[in-house]
Amino acid sequence: MDALAKSISQRLDAFPRVSLGVFPTPVHRLERISKYLNIDIFIKRDDMTGLGLGGNKTRKLELLLADALRQGCGIVFTTGGAQSNHAMLTAAACNRLGLKPILVLKKRGVTENLGNRFLETLMGTDVRYMDTDSYDDIYREMDAIGAASGIGYYIIPCGGSNALGSLGYVDCAREIASQSLKFDHIVLAEGSGGTMAGMALGAKLFLPGTQVHGMMVDTDPFDVITPRLMKEAAELLGIDISSDEKNYTLLDVCGPGYAIPSDEGNAAVRLMAEQEGIFLDPVYTGKAFAGLIRMAQEGMFKPGERVLFIHTGGAGGLFAVR
Ligand SMILES: *Cc1c(COP(=O)(O)O)cnc(C)c1O
Repeated sequence: MDALAKSISQRLDAFPRVSLGVFPTPVHRLERISKYLNIDIFIKRDDMTGLGLGGNKTRKLELLLADALRQGCGIVFTTGGAQSNHAMLTAAACNRLGLKPILVLKKRGVTENLGNRFLETLMGTDVRYMDTDSYDDIYREMDAIGAASGIGYYIIPCGGSNALGSLGYVDCAREIASQSLKFDHIVLAEGSGGTMAGMALGAKLFLPGTQVHGMMVDTDPFDVITPRLMKEAAELLGIDISSDEKNYTLLDVCGPGYAIPSDEGNAAVRLMAEQEGIFLDPVYTGKAFAGLIRMAQEGMFKPGERVLFIHTGGAGGLFAVR
């Protein structure tokens, strides 16, 4: 690590964290799929972060919930769709820390007692639905519930994707650097943007030469969201990246819509299950891996280059598909 990376690394360590996961997560080669796609592909198992069914939100929550505790909050609100992996993991993390989670979810997607919703039932989580497409409505409702409770409350935005949450994936990039393999490409799902922004910023700092590819599973303007979150996260670390060269690309893999399975994504879920015994999910990682396959088939990875796929979790969603 050069001197600048070392000093940024120290600033990263200075942010308070609560320990929720088991790190570092493993990295290993996908032997059969490497042969099948004729590329050199590895996987980072952030589906094995150790909380709930694993997943990327654990890294964000270590920072966000430390902030909630520091502010003396007793209630933690978050939101997402009815099957939100993020909301379920937030509830699991709050239970561990003795905080009270309240999930105010959009009444969109599978609302029956299946998948992540079933896991929330097991955990005794307070789940409320709002029949709205606007997160602003939901944040207003949280403020109303929070104010009425008379105790301190903390609102984690959808997906935990603010600057502080994104630092969890700056940390992940540093972890990859410490795992000593070098990668030319990192591919991951982008849903609310924090994971991608953190990884792209982290790659700039700790994995020079690595391109990061965000596979967009939703239709939000990620060409605006990604650089904005990167800039805000960089500011938290006291650095200015505004004149840096772009080290990432974005690819649309959304298909028929957010949280609606795509044929391409389903085929990728099956391929990974059949070839490697690893389970992807229909909403994020299946579509993201389908994007990686598309990139491989279009010759975007040169011979001899190493590709790392970040498995961001989502297993709960598998049990909510019909
Ligand atoms: C939330 C989520 C993502 C996307 O991460 P963002 O930071 O929201 O972009 C990817 N995979 C899974 C399984 C997720 O739950």
